[in-house]
Amino acid sequence: MNFQFSSEEQGFRFEMRQFVKDNLPTEIKGVTEMTSELAPLERAFCRKMAEKGWFGLAFPKEYGGRGENPVPMNEYIMNAELRMLKAPTSFFSWLTTIGPVILRYGSEEIKKEILTRMISCDIRFAICYTEPEAGNDLANLQTRAIQDGDDYVLNGQKRFITHADIADYLWAAVRTDPDLPKHKGVSIMIVDKNLPGITITPLKMANGLRTNEVFFDDVRVPKKYLVGERGRGFYYMMEALDLERFTIIDFHGTSSPFEEFLDWARTAELDGERIKDDPIVRQRIANMRLKMQAGKMLQLIAGARAMTREYVPNVEAAAIRHWEGIVSFEKADLAIDTMRAYGLLLRDSDEAPLEGWWPAEYKWAGHAWGSGGGVDINRKIIAQRGLGLPAW
Ligand SMILES: Cc1cc2nc3c(=O)[nH]c(=O)nc-3n(C[C@H](O)[C@H](O)[C@H](O)COP(=O)(O)OP(=O)(O)OC[C@H]3O[C@@H](n4cnc5c(N)ncnc54)[C@H](O)[C@@H]3O)c2cc1C
Repeated sequence: MNFQFSSEEQGFRFEMRQFVKDNLPTEIKGVTEMTSELAPLERAFCRKMAEKGWFGLAFPKEYGGRGENPVPMNEYIMNAELRMLKAPTSFFSWLTTIGPVILRYGSEEIKKEILTRMISCDIRFAICYTEPEAGNDLANLQTRAIQDGDDYVLNGQKRFITHADIADYLWAAVRTDPDLPKHKGVSIMIVDKNLPGITITPLKMANGLRTNEVFFDDVRVPKKYLVGERGRGFYYMMEALDLERFTIIDFHGTSSPFEEFLDWARTAELDGERIKDDPIVRQRIANMRLKMQAGKMLQLIAGARAMTREYVPNVEAAAIRHWEGIVSFEKADLAIDTMRAYGLLLRDSDEAPLEGWWPAEYKWAGHAWGSGGGVDINRKIIAQRGLGLPAW
């Protein structure tokens, strides 16, 4: 088996790398969640990438894509490079998660109006699934969308909706048929965030960043913005989550801060002792390196199987999400532990190793543990669908 990229792929990789070095504004380098102040910089940077045709590599030409089929490895390379170079990835991530779902099930009108503007980076999305009573149990979602003439009228509350404050559109899971069984009464709607009746309030996270609550109060959404078939939304959501688990997460990217930690450990001295002389530290670092490599392999397997649009990795994607949740905590724990008390110093302290990256990363690891089905639900997917074990 040949794990090397072809010479064209290597060429694309170097071109991308140079482009990011030349064009990425320092203000948004390493920013894990975009703020309203920095969002225009991100949009401008992503538009430059879109102008080069990189955002629609795997989408048909009639929607502004490049029409490359099967899905080119370049899409994978781009994701890995962006993350490795600490460039923002959210615009790209909607294209790899909800983009294919729109392409597969959306009406021609939605594809022309929405998909083309996603590919040209004109519009920003927020993913609107979670509610106070529907986290992992998404089939329990309560936000209603009841048809009234040519509109659906939305009422309800969403929680933990990242980017809702700076989005143009919400990709919202709503209950269109309350009388049908839970899974069958859900649909997906694309909701213009500026419609009357939408209120967005901040929720501040442990790492100081913002996520949001979104309230719908008699919001009228034209029925043409219902994606695909009414009542199939739960299945579309599951497909988008499968895509999210293997495209948003990237072990190449997550390993880049780890490689910086490794460089630090090779030379650092704390309280007169060289870190690299400690055999326990050496063993733990070697172990972690292997775990990161295993993550990269899982990713390559899912990526290779997804090269035809016909196949959406499910068990493979669950393995990636599950593994990343575990490794995120372990590697942050290892870095902070190795740095001793200095590991707890924050970004604004002169003595913080690696500019205080690791306490911030530790706080972020909770998100990796719980989002996209997190460690536990993905373990269940592997057990039931991958290994044929009974559901409980
Ligand atoms: C920073 C942040 C950003 C987020 N961004 C978004 C966003 O943009 N859009 C969005 O829609 N959501 C978002 N979320 C929500 C996130 O996806 C949910 O937190 C997640 O779905 C878990 O839901 P919950 O917190 O209600 O946990 P719960 O569903 O209450 O689960 C808590 C824990 O219980 C266990 N558990 C629950 N059900 C099962 C089961 N069936 N089997 C085994 N174990 C189980 C698991 O250990 C799980 O981790 C975000 C969350 C955070 C923290």
